[in-house]
Amino acid sequence: MSDLPTYRPETLAVRAGQERSQFGEHSEALYLTSSFVFNSAAQAARRFSGEEEGNVYARFSNPTVSVFEERLAALEGAEDCVATASGMAAIMATVLAHLKQGDHIVASNSLFGATVNLLSTILTRTGITTTFVSHTDPAAWAAAIRPETRLFFLETPSNPLTEIADIAALSAIAHAHDILVAVDNCFCSPILQRPLDLGADLVIHSATKFLDGQGRVLGGAVCGPRKLTEEVFKYLRTAGPTLSAFNAWVLLKGLETLKLRVEAQSAAALRLAVWLEAHPKVGRVFYPGLPSHPQHVLAKAQQKSGGAILAFEVKGGREQAWQVVDNCRLLSITANLGDTKTTITHPASTTHGRITPEARTAAGINEGLLRIAVGLEAVEDLQADLERGLALI
Ligand SMILES: *Cc1c(COP(=O)(O)O)cnc(C)c1O
Repeated sequence: MSDLPTYRPETLAVRAGQERSQFGEHSEALYLTSSFVFNSAAQAARRFSGEEEGNVYARFSNPTVSVFEERLAALEGAEDCVATASGMAAIMATVLAHLKQGDHIVASNSLFGATVNLLSTILTRTGITTTFVSHTDPAAWAAAIRPETRLFFLETPSNPLTEIADIAALSAIAHAHDILVAVDNCFCSPILQRPLDLGADLVIHSATKFLDGQGRVLGGAVCGPRKLTEEVFKYLRTAGPTLSAFNAWVLLKGLETLKLRVEAQSAAALRLAVWLEAHPKVGRVFYPGLPSHPQHVLAKAQQKSGGAILAFEVKGGREQAWQVVDNCRLLSITANLGDTKTTITHPASTTHGRITPEARTAAGINEGLLRIAVGLEAVEDLQADLERGLALI
């Protein structure tokens, strides 16, 4: 399938990467094996030296994992993809593959919580430091650059307020200083946003979210040009946070329905956002697909649609917000996202509960804020579920 790039995303999502075995299986085979045998001592030597391509050991490669990597690379428009055990493993692998002691990162100040912890605690022990700057202000990124800056790290839209970082503008600033740009594309998936097309160097995924889409397995990936992913692969084959064959097989099945799911979930999120914005018990609604979003124009240029995640302020405070959550019978009370089942969370007491109240206020996360990651249920049923709590206010 060397002409793959000419296929459209829905075709790639179903077909890319598959190579059938001698048995002619229609569905992708699951190769549950940790090692591979060679037909001679000479072949073993060639495989180990890299002179001959082929599988050696599942920490290095596995045919099921390879199909997932090829399929995701095709969807992101990337030359190559390296799969990892989780999204966090993908971020750690990217940083350790490309940075060393003394190097510096400029990162968005509204990143996934574990990413903030990784950058601000564990990685600082290796002598790699990070400056966090405003997500939406390219001038702040430019001002934070030092001679030892090697990486810009961002995720867009942000969680939970759906602020948009301008990937093209930040890439232009970084490249003028020989700095790499890595974008965590978890919230949009390649169906809604392709960071490499906008100038980014590497795309990172938590496959745990929309790529699986059904809340079953953990996984991650790093996509980009081979000269950059090769370093990530070298780190993985030595350090070991590789994706398991079983998880890769589950994720392959997830990718097949990615476009249908993400488009339906995004359309439902827009309907829910419009309804919430008109609701008398609701204050501000944060959703890139709404014309009232301060960066609606940028979002429209950068993303195919607003995505499946929105946030809104319940009038009142924590008590009223918790009342809405506690009256949900359908929406799942969990911080997970990207699932077919709609989830609701109160960021101030969960995902953002460990930061100080002052920092939370500065970040714009107040006590009435709720975040919803829309799934595949009927919008009318989701509205009825939320209305039960809202009506009590
Ligand atoms: C969940 C998440 C991660 C971490 O992924 P895991 O698979 O849980 O390790 C990273 N970035 C974002 C934006 C996420 O939502």
